[in-house]
Amino acid sequence: MTVVVQKYGGSSVADADRIKNAARRVGKAKDAGNQVVVVVSAMGDTTDDLIALAQQVTERPRDRELDVLLSTGELVSSTLLSMALENLGYKAVSLTGAQAGIQTDSAYSRARILRVDASRIISELERDNIVIVAGFQGVTHDMDITTLGRGGSDTTAVALAASLGAEVCQIYSDVEGVYTADPRLVPEAMNLKEIGYEEMLELASYGAKVLHPRAVELGQLYGVTIVVASSFSNRAGTTICKEASMEVRNKVRGIAHDTNVAKITVVGVPDHPGIAAAIFEPLAKENVSVDTIVQNASINNITDLTFTVARTDLPRAMSLMEPLLKSIEAKQCITDSTLAKVSIVGTGMQNTPGYAARMFRTLHEAGINIQLITTSEIRITCIISEDKVKDAVGALHKAFELEKA
Ligand code: ADP
Ligand code: ASP
Ligand code: MG
Repeated sequence: MTVVVQKYGGSSVADADRIKNAARRVGKAKDAGNQVVVVVSAMGDTTDDLIALAQQVTERPRDRELDVLLSTGELVSSTLLSMALENLGYKAVSLTGAQAGIQTDSAYSRARILRVDASRIISELERDNIVIVAGFQGVTHDMDITTLGRGGSDTTAVALAASLGAEVCQIYSDVEGVYTADPRLVPEAMNLKEIGYEEMLELASYGAKVLHPRAVELGQLYGVTIVVASSFSNRAGTTICKEASMEVRNKVRGIAHDTNVAKITVVGVPDHPGIAAAIFEPLAKENVSVDTIVQNASINNITDLTFTVARTDLPRAMSLMEPLLKSIEAKQCITDSTLAKVSIVGTGMQNTPGYAARMFRTLHEAGINIQLITTSEIRITCIISEDKVKDAVGALHKAFELEKA
């Protein structure tokens, strides 16, 4: 029997009617003769609401406690979906991440899956149950509950698809697949029929939140085909797989934007060996990902060092930086939380000159100042003011003719 893994995001289980809608879709996959495993996110904005609630109690909730709290959102939706399925006459069982065998490291709020012990899921499937797994969560070796990072239910789904040998992992959201840009920002954005893992990984890592980047990474690693589609329509959606068609390779495939950006500038640092290590090692140790790093040319052996982190990581990053300033003899740290990233992505840009120049000119013509630039082989990212994001994405979408994709 074929194993099908489906994942329903927060908007697809936002209320009782939507949960019943998801149940009918799950039922269809079961009726088609499949063994069905379903991963769910928390209902609607539950995760945001739980974070806000914790912050009403304390400014800095302890990571361990916060993860237990946040994991409860997915328990609510998984149990309700299981009940809705029973009500339609199907046998269903809900499992927490721990019961489903999702074993993680202990990096609370950003835990990584170390291993999946799928034995409980397999035995439930053998009993002809539809298995509903609470997404976004796992358990450490010491039985502490962890969460996988915002949007992490996608990663739960792909990890389960990989360990169960499912050929396809279907991700159901409120959009009909992956578009050339966020369709909420750019109404002309086009739905992509397919996209390769590599391009999708860059888009997801640079803000296209339709898929969690680590889900794409796992899909690529284990050869799981991921299909992104809407739970509100029957359109085919977007297939993320190894090889996208050759003809679409030689241009920009999509534009991502990310407003979860903060910039930290360490001002007046003595420019001698070991300074970069002294700054970035403590951040790495605390799992704070640093993105763009720019070091100014030094004058009289004094330099400024600028880097970006996720805005949500800024308090954590600053709590590490402040005590460090004295030991590295830096003058001060300046932060800016009003920035955003816009990125153009496409494997066709490799070894083809002109894309960066076109991007910079487009932003210039739209009156947008570029603060920092970073690139990979298949991506160019500009850091700009957050209030210019919509203009920037719209202008770039037009300049690279993505409405003709
Ligand atoms: P879910 O709750 O189902 O996981 P998310 O809100 O995490 O859904 O992701 C879906 C959202 O991703 C869409 O509503 C859309 O606004 C946003 N998005 C950003 N970039 C893209 C893109 N390139 N294609 C499609 N959706 C995108
Ligand atoms: N509920 C979690 C979040 O809002 C996980 C997810 O939706 O994938 O980030
Ligand atoms: Mg999501």
